[in-house]
Formats: sequence, structure tokens, C-alpha cells
Amino acid sequence: MSDPSAPLSSADGPARAQCPYCGVGCGLEMKPPTAAAAGSEAIWTARGDRQHPSSLGQVCVKGATVGETLHRNRLTTPLYRQRTDQPLAPISWDRAFDLLEAQVRRTLAEKGPSGLAMYGSGQFQTEDYYVANKLFKGALGSNNFDANSRLCMSSAVSGYVRSFGSDGPPCCYDDLDQADTVLLIGTNTAECHPVLFQRLLKRKRKQKQALQIVVVDPRTTATSDAADLHLAIRPGTDLALLHGLGHLLLEMGGVDRAYVQASTEGFEALAELWALWTPAKVSRFCGIEERQLHQLADRWEASPAVLSLWSMGVNQSVEGTATVAGIINLHLVSGQIGKPGAGPFSLTGQPNAMGGREAGGLAKLLPGYRSVTDAGHRAELERHWGLAPGAIAPESGLTVWEQIEAMERDALGLWWVAATNPLVSLPWLDRVRAAVARCPMVVLNEAYAGTETAAIAHLVLPAAQWSEKAGVMTNSERRVTYCPAFRVPPGEARADWAIFAELGRRLGFEEQFRYGSSAEVFDEFVVITAGRVCDLSGLSHGLLHEHGPQQWPFPTGTSPGGGTPRLHTSGRFPTASGRARLISEAPMGLGEPPDDDYPLVLTVGRYLEQWHTMTRTAHVERLLRPHAAPLLEVNPVDARTHGLVDAGRAEVISRRGAVTATVQITERIRQGTVFLPMHWGASQEQACEANRLMHALGCPISQQPELKAAAVTLKPIAAPSKPRLSNSGDHPGLRSEPKS
Ligand code: SF4
Repeated sequence: MSDPSAPLSSADGPARAQCPYCGVGCGLEMKPPTAAAAGSEAIWTARGDRQHPSSLGQVCVKGATVGETLHRNRLTTPLYRQRTDQPLAPISWDRAFDLLEAQVRRTLAEKGPSGLAMYGSGQFQTEDYYVANKLFKGALGSNNFDANSRLCMSSAVSGYVRSFGSDGPPCCYDDLDQADTVLLIGTNTAECHPVLFQRLLKRKRKQKQALQIVVVDPRTTATSDAADLHLAIRPGTDLALLHGLGHLLLEMGGVDRAYVQASTEGFEALAELWALWTPAKVSRFCGIEERQLHQLADRWEASPAVLSLWSMGVNQSVEGTATVAGIINLHLVSGQIGKPGAGPFSLTGQPNAMGGREAGGLAKLLPGYRSVTDAGHRAELERHWGLAPGAIAPESGLTVWEQIEAMERDALGLWWVAATNPLVSLPWLDRVRAAVARCPMVVLNEAYAGTETAAIAHLVLPAAQWSEKAGVMTNSERRVTYCPAFRVPPGEARADWAIFAELGRRLGFEEQFRYGSSAEVFDEFVVITAGRVCDLSGLSHGLLHEHGPQQWPFPTGTSPGGGTPRLHTSGRFPTASGRARLISEAPMGLGEPPDDDYPLVLTVGRYLEQWHTMTRTAHVERLLRPHAAPLLEVNPVDARTHGLVDAGRAEVISRRGAVTATVQITERIRQGTVFLPMHWGASQEQACEANRLMHALGCPISQQPELKAAAVTLKPIAAPSKPRLSNSGDHPGLRSEPKS
């Protein structure tokens, strides 16, 4: 077996890794560049890895072009300025660490550990996550480590924990091939998880009647175009719809009484709640026809295997966790879980959001699906990390929005952002900018130059990214893939985990951060997962490198390929009683409903070709072609009411600010709702900061902001209209590599 921690070179041939974009986690085969002609770029080319079990050779246009993004617009040296109105200037790493160490010590002396906060990313590899958590929660005694997964899937985490007793998506991608009915709720899978959607479509083409696709989404999307049934509900009414479905299942005898009795608790209260949500009431509340709800119930009741997929349309809501419980309730009551083709299955956005959960990458978590509020869990980690008892604080750390509020109170002395661009992705961006401006030192680990967050940073540290550092990532189906280093980092860029470890050593934790490689970090991490739901103790870089991706649980002694495709197959759950909890919560609706002044609901989403805040994908011309600029989708009735014309410009105004965009009048958005993509930040030529308009109310349980809905109004802009921009869906789309 070759040494997995040694960087590959182009002479080693293609490198195999997990795609660094979305949570589908497709396998990529990266082919080294041939000798580049003078003046041209040496580009690694990507194609689908036929050996990767999660994607079987499939890849979408983002994955296929990732090689074009790796070397352009990179940061190569640390940069610093004392004040953010000064230009950033290059400094040495030594000076950068001196500044960082001094600010940590100053903050600890003046404000204590709670004055330090980090905001990390699902772009981290698991080793980055683990060392960052050890540094913050262990060495520094601050649980203020949160990640952009807070914006993406923290409601799914809270939902699984409340219902099942532990986090952990119970399903796998093979379930797409075995389900009779697939319910896609709050997910535009065709654009956000394209390879999974293509897998579903391929089966639908072959087995038209055997597979029924149901989509719940206020918009007509590329996903709903493929649906047998599309329920275009009002934004914020998903939970009511789910309760209405439960109501009908009760009436139809669609309850698996034996399963409910043996494996759940709380059925009586749930049945009482469901009884209130009659089809007539659901029809009024959700803005759909009663017959559509009956169609959904008939389909669910008749299906041997129902699979529910969701992502941010469910999670980014003030009732995100309650809605996740609403989905899980239906699966538990009808016995649609723990068997092939059935179950509630959250799709993660980031490529390693799952690994972040495993490594404790949210403000309340510790590695191995543990909690900072559990004294036993803290003691286990303190021993594992060689720290004194009591080193880990007993209270939850600050979530990202709480970190913003802490900066408003001057309670933070250091805000450290890594591998993410919150000055585009957080809600209420004007408030964020004002809060961050009060923080004495903002540090940013970043691979790319010129991001919106770099504009507010004092110290910018050049980060080695995917392809330049070895580490693992876990995708939505709990499959762990080893990603080797096959390119040399540009200039002085360093891996995030190595930056965190260096600071740890400088702060006096020599032993705790004496790592020679990321393989050593991973070995230390997996030991502490033994016996937990997310048991990775049988994995190592070496095993993953030699035998390919593996699904967890994968306890010590598991043979390669012997991981676990589905959780909860026994009907026993990791709760005190061993039963899953049925949770009864009445729908609340939107955090900021429309009113006379702001009569429309703005919802935001993604285009297939763009990734989040465009730091990578904006540099690939082919990816910009289908959507050169953001388009505001408006229903014809709303366009008339607000005096808008197709291809004209409009101002979108909320209580927090205004942005301008080109109007696309379309029946594909329901009346009363408008849509903007979230990708274009202030640094883009076609800037349209959609999240500037969003409010910061979030789910009270998961603390996930309701980024999917805010009340807005529209005003036409009396300027000469620009030529019509393409939004035809005529994009390069998906590329499939033929199977061998
Ligand atoms: S679907 Fe596309 S972006 Fe997502 S992991 Fe696969 S190739 Fe990457």
C-alpha cells in the first residue's frame, strides 16, 4: 500500500476524491494536466469516478469544471491591515501568528474565553473541523465555534436528535432505486443535488408507473417539472400540509399499529393534533386544492416504500425543526423507515457538512455526536484531549447569529472566519457589516482573493484548499471519502488544520497539537467515535485510500465494504426508552408574514451552475453562460399590480434594505411570492445581495435562520430596459460519464 499522506504528483496518474461542491458527494477522477503550452494554464480535468459507490461515474457541470477553478484568483501570502479602511498588505506567517496569538491572549485577559469566536465551514475537511474544535472548545475553553452548516441543515440535526435520540440520516442513495414514492419537499433537487435527481429521473424513464414523484414547492422548478404531483403550497405552510397528510392517513387506516406500539411514543397526542388538520383547513392554509392532498395521501398509503427528501426549503424556517419532525412523524406512524426505499432523508448542502457534525462542528456539539451540555461527554473529550477536568465550558456556544449580536455588544475580541463567505450568505447583511465593524480583529482563512468577507477582515490567511491537502469528507448518505493532496498549494498557503494546530502550539498546548500529518489527526478523531452512532473507529486514511469510500457506522474490525447503509433497521432508537419520539407541534407560519406594506414573500434559491457565493464558479465562463445575472421571478398578476415589465429593472425592498434586479415575469412562481438567487454578492459585477433583505428570525430549536422567506414589496425602476437576459434553463446541465 502506498503512503496515503504523501502528496500525489501528476506522475501518479489520476487522483480520486469526493467533489468539493455539494453534499451529494460524487466521486471525481482528476486527471493531471499535460504539459501546458507557453502562456496557457495547466488544468487538472475532472470526470466522474465510476468506482465511487455514491455516484457511479455521474457528475454535474460544477464537478466537471472544478479543475478550472483551483488555481485562479488565489491568495498566496498572509495579508494584514490595522484598520479596514487601509489596504491589505503582505506579511510573513510568523508575523501573522504573532498578531493572532497576541489578540487571543488580549481577548482572554479582557473578556475571557467567551470573547473568542470562530465561524467555520462545510468546505472544511473533517481534520480541519476536528482541530478547530479541539482548539476552541478544548484549549481555549470557548464553545463559540459554529459553521455555515447552521444556515444549511441544523434543523435536520435537531430534528433527528429530537425524534431518534441522535443525529444521523437513516437512508442511503440506493433507496432512490427502491422507493415507490419519492416525496421531495423544500428541495429543488434538480439544481441543488443534480446527480441524485438524474438518478431518480433515469429510473422514472424506465419505470414510469412504479415510481411516483411528488414535489412540494411554491415554485415550479426543474424538479417539479418531473413530478407526477406538484403541490405549490404557500411559503411557510409545509408543516400544516404534513399534518393534513397525517389526518388522512389516520382516516384511511394508513397507520402501522404494530410499529407505532413497539417503536414509538407520543402517538395519542399526535393523533389529536392531526385530527384538527382537516383537508378543508389544510387547503385554505396551504393554498392548494383538497383533492391534491387526497392524491398525496392515496399515494403514500398505497406505497410499500416511501422516501422523503428535503433540504433548505424545510430547514431554513422558523419552524424548521418542527417540520423535520412532521416528516419523521409520518414515516414512523406508517412504518416507512428502516427498510429499503423508505425513510426520512435530509440532503446536505455542503460537501462535508456531515463530517462537521461528526467532528462536533456546531456551537452545541462535541466530536462523536456529543453535546457540550452533557457532563459525561465533556469529561470524555477532556480525557481524550489531555486537558484538565472542566476545561470545556458547560454551556452552548454562540451560534453564528449570536456571534453577530455579540459583536454588536462589543463582547467579542476576535472573530475568526474560515472557508466561508458570510458577508454574502448571512441574512440582514447591513446589520452584519455594522456589527463586524465593531470587532477589534476579524481573521479570515480563505483560498480566494477579493471575497466580500475579506473586505471586512484585518488579517487574511491564505488557505490550501481541496486538492492541496489530504483529508476526508462525508456525504449525505454517511459515506466517507479520502481526498488526497494532488496539487501543490500556491505560494505560502497552508491547510486550515495546520494553521489551527500552529496557533495551539504557540498558546502552550504543545502536546495536544503535535501533529505530523492530517492522517494523525484523523486517527486521533476516529478513536473518540467508537461506540457512538457515528462510529468511524474502523477507518483510517490508509484504509480509505486503499479500499475506497466507506459508509458509517464502521466500527473497528469492520471489513472494507462492510459499512452500514441504513440506520434504525431494528426499530430500536438511541433514546432513553429505545422508542422514537412522535412530536406534536402546531404550525406557526412565517416569521415575517406579508402585510399591506410588504405584500409579497421573497424566497431565495440557487442556480445549478453556481456554487454558493461564487468565489470559485464565477471564474468559469461556461458556468456563467446560462445565468449571466440574477433574475427576479415575478408572477404576471404581481407584475401588473406593481407596474413591472418583463426584462425591466425592479427594486426589491424589505424592512432591512433594497436590491435591484432584472424582472422575469413567469407563471412558474405562485402569485404572492417572488424569487431571487442568492449567489451574487457585493463584489460581483451584477451584484444583487438577496440576503441583505432577509430577516434574522430563526428556528427556536436549531437556531437556523429563516433564509427562505421575507416580506418584500417591488418598485419598477424607470431606466431604459436592458436586453433580455437568458433564464431559459438552457444550461450545460448534467454530464454523465458512461459506465464501464
Ligand atoms: S452533484 Fe455536482 S456539485 Fe454535487 S457532488 Fe456531484 S458533481 Fe459535485
